[in-house]
This record gives sequence, structure tokens and C-alpha cells, in this order.
Amino acid sequence: MTAESPFKLTYATMFNPPEELHTRFEEALAKVKAGLGKEYGMIIDGKERFADEKFVDHNPANTNEFLGIFQKGTVQDAHDAVAAAKKAFYKWSHTPWQERVALIRKAADLIDQRIFEIGAAVALEVGKNRMEALGDVAETADLFRYACDSMEKNNGFIVEMGRDPLTGFQSTNFSVLRPYGVWLVISPFNFPAALTGGPSAAALVTGNTLIMKPATDTPWTARLLAECLRDAGIPDGVFNYVTGPGSTLGQALIDHPDIAGVTFTGSYDVGMKIYRDFAQSRWVRPTILELGGKNPAIVSRHANLEDAAVGIVRSAFGLQGQKCSACSRVFIEEPVYDELVERLVALTNKLTIGDPTARNVYMGPVINASSYRDYQNFAEELHQSGRVLTGGKILTEGEYAKGYFVTPTLVADLPADHRLWQVEMFVPITTIAKVSNLEEAMTRANEVMYGLTAGFYGSPEEVEWFFDRIEAGVTYANRPQGATTGAWPGFQPFGGWKASGASGKNAGGVYYLPLYMHEQIRTLVK
Ligand code: GLU
Repeated sequence: MTAESPFKLTYATMFNPPEELHTRFEEALAKVKAGLGKEYGMIIDGKERFADEKFVDHNPANTNEFLGIFQKGTVQDAHDAVAAAKKAFYKWSHTPWQERVALIRKAADLIDQRIFEIGAAVALEVGKNRMEALGDVAETADLFRYACDSMEKNNGFIVEMGRDPLTGFQSTNFSVLRPYGVWLVISPFNFPAALTGGPSAAALVTGNTLIMKPATDTPWTARLLAECLRDAGIPDGVFNYVTGPGSTLGQALIDHPDIAGVTFTGSYDVGMKIYRDFAQSRWVRPTILELGGKNPAIVSRHANLEDAAVGIVRSAFGLQGQKCSACSRVFIEEPVYDELVERLVALTNKLTIGDPTARNVYMGPVINASSYRDYQNFAEELHQSGRVLTGGKILTEGEYAKGYFVTPTLVADLPADHRLWQVEMFVPITTIAKVSNLEEAMTRANEVMYGLTAGFYGSPEEVEWFFDRIEAGVTYANRPQGATTGAWPGFQPFGGWKASGASGKNAGGVYYLPLYMHEQIRTLVK
């Protein structure tokens, strides 16, 4: 039996949350805040592991607030985690898949039970507003269950093939998908729950053993997920949780010959380095990459402009523009340009910025000093080369002085060949262009190396044309809930084309789990 989840955070509740949800979040936040500053070990082979050197996790909305102390794992720790996962592989991979499913479902239930506590940690650690934070955790539990459902629907990926004539129809033939071995998940700061938990559940349920290496900005959320795996009864060594610098610990994992496969979500540059380094091995190892985006919204003269404005602003500035799926380019047909721009600016100016755990705040801070600097540099360049319609400055007065607060920024009149039409900025900045027709919009939408998400607002006749022509892995038409963001597992499996992804199959979708297994054909005569 699986427990009922306390809330299903579908879009309906995301935008119109019940009162109880707020109360429970606030209670959990108070409890979590009262216990801040603890030291957390890594988990290797089921045991807490402490390193000589530590690092401090802080709140980007208030950099004086220390959330916890984490271990600066060493190369030796990386090697020990791989050894533990390798030792645990035989037994775990030979555990009946139904038992693995039961354990992952149990872990999903534990995530549900701790959703408010983990959500509070996400809000504090990433600077997500409470609904986005809870959404991240709810998505994680959904990804766990989706992976379990997928195993069940596919009968553990065991398929009986026909009896072949070569053996006088005497043979039995089976196709069996089997796990690779030790799987490494390197996850980013922006969805520290879903993008750590989703690939981890996929790796585990298919019979791989796991090493989780979260971003150095967000070790805490991953630690709480690791506790859910541990408390669900997943055996020692089957999952391991390590923390520390990508340049030493992360690199040691990538370079280790006993890592059988990797899932990395993060920047294009780091992803391509991992891809190249991971290829320095004796055979080709599976590599699942979800990299950046430069996601366009195209708005036709026939669009519902209210839907377009709401969808674009949500996607541009949700999580401070730090989603791979953020809407960072908008192409508007000339007849509706002025009106839509006016609406976009008006909505953007209404966004509330502040402590992301507070009830009515939409935008929190950007993640760290480096993103804060990036924002300032991009803003300066855009002030020079384009027309900043709103935003374009950091916030430093009063409470804002405590954290990395910036303003949501819309920019028009940036020359079409300007480099910032191509660069993923990963801060709340969106550039807008007027186009004379939809063909021009489509050409510009596709003329970047990325191809993650894309949105369209227009007539039903235009929509099919958009889906056919746009080069992106997740596409939305006429969606006010988000022009380019807000994919939900099982409904909008998430992944990209071109420089945005490297498996061609989307997470939380029907083709995802087979990426974690190789095929074995079993032919037996008589
Ligand atoms: N799945 C998220 C969305 O649809 C984005 C995940 C990401 O930023 O990598 O908005």
C-alpha cells in the first residue's frame, strides 16, 4: 500500500494554493529554521563520512544565515563511494525488480511525508518561493513513482520474443534490459530535489547502484533526499551521497573506470567537458546530459495577449530566470508588439521581490555571488546595446542588502546579431524583438545552438506549424501557466535537442528508463 500524498501540487494548486498548504509550510519553516547550522556527513556504504575540510551552505537571501556545514569530500572519498557502489551492485541488480519498485515507492512516500520540511530547505537553500520549492519536492516524489509505474507497465522490461524458425521453432527468445553498474548523478542547484531525485530513482529502480553528487550550492536538499532513500530501507552501498568541489571530487568520479554511466544536469560548458572526459575510457559509456536553454516564445498577431503576457512573465522570471527552461527570448509579430510589450512590462513591474519564504513573494535572490556579478555585467552590456524596458539593476537597500537580489529585466531593440541573443544568461533577463511575420520569428527562434523548450501563442491553425518547425524537446502552445516552463512528469517529459541534451529521450517520460539499461537477448534451445 502506498500512502496518500498530502497534496498534489499540480498547476491548479501552484497558482491557487489552499490555505492549509501555507500553514503547513510556515510551521515546517519555523522548525527547520530553529535547527539550522548542523553538520552533515556524506553517506558512503551506509555510513556517515566526514572529511577534514568542510564548507558552509548559506542562504542566498541572507548570506549571513548559515544553513549547514558540509564535507569537502576528497578524491579518496570519491574512490570509496565507487568501491561501495560496485560491491553492492551484484545483489541489488539481482534483487527482483518488484522489490526495487517497492523500495522506491516507499522512498517516495517518505518524501511526501517530509514535503514541507524539504520544501522549506529548498526555499532557504536555493531562494525559491514557497510554491516553487514545494513543487520541486512534489515533482521528485512524482518522478520516483513515474519510474516505478514505468517498470510495472513494462513488466520489468522483459519481453518474450517469438520462437525462431532457425531452430525449428524450438527456441525461446527473450529480450531483457539489465542495469549497467555504478551510476553517477551530478545535479544542479536550481532543482536540487527533482533533478537529483529523478535520475537517481531511474538509476536505482532499474538495478544500478548510485552515487549522488549535488551542486556545491545545494548539498542540503540532496542530503534530505538521501535520508529518504536510507529510511526506505535501500541497502548500504546501493546509494551513496558525496559532497565537495566538482574540480576534484567530481572529476575523480568522472575519471573513475568503474563508473558505468552518468546523468549530468547543468551548464553546457561543464556538460561538454564531462562528455569528453567520460569518453576517455576503454569503451563507450552511456551519458545523459540535460544542458542549457535559450528558450523562445513566439507570439502571433492572432494570439490571446493576456495568456501570452502571463505565460511569458511566469517563464521569464520564475525562480529568478534560473531554470534551464526559462523564457529568455520573445518574438512578437508587429501588429501586436506594442500592446504585448506594454502588458509584459506592467506584469513584470507587479512582481514581488524579497525573502522567498514569505507568503506573497514571487522572486527571491539569485543563487550566489557569481550569478549576481553575471547579472550586473549582462545588465551593463544591455543598457549599452539595447533599450531596457524595466529592471536592469540590482537591489541593495534595506533587507535587500543581505542577499543577491536583482530586478526582473526586459530588453527591447537589441540588434539581432548581438551576442546576448545566443548566450544562456541564467538570470532574470529576457530580450524581446519585433518581427514582421511568423517565418522570421521561427528562423530567429531556431538560430541558436540550444533546443530545450519553446512556447507559442496564436490561432489553432498556426499551432501545428509551430510544433512542426520549432527545434525543441518540450513545446507548449497557448499556455498561460508558463510559455516555456513548468513541465510535469508524466505529462511533459523534460529534455532537449541540439546543445540542450544528449540522450534524445525526455526525463519523466515513456522512453526514459531504458537509457539506464543495456539489452541482453536470451536464446535457449529446448
Ligand atoms: N522542468 C523544469 C521546467 O519545466 C525545468 C528544469 C530545469 O531547469 O532544468 O520548468
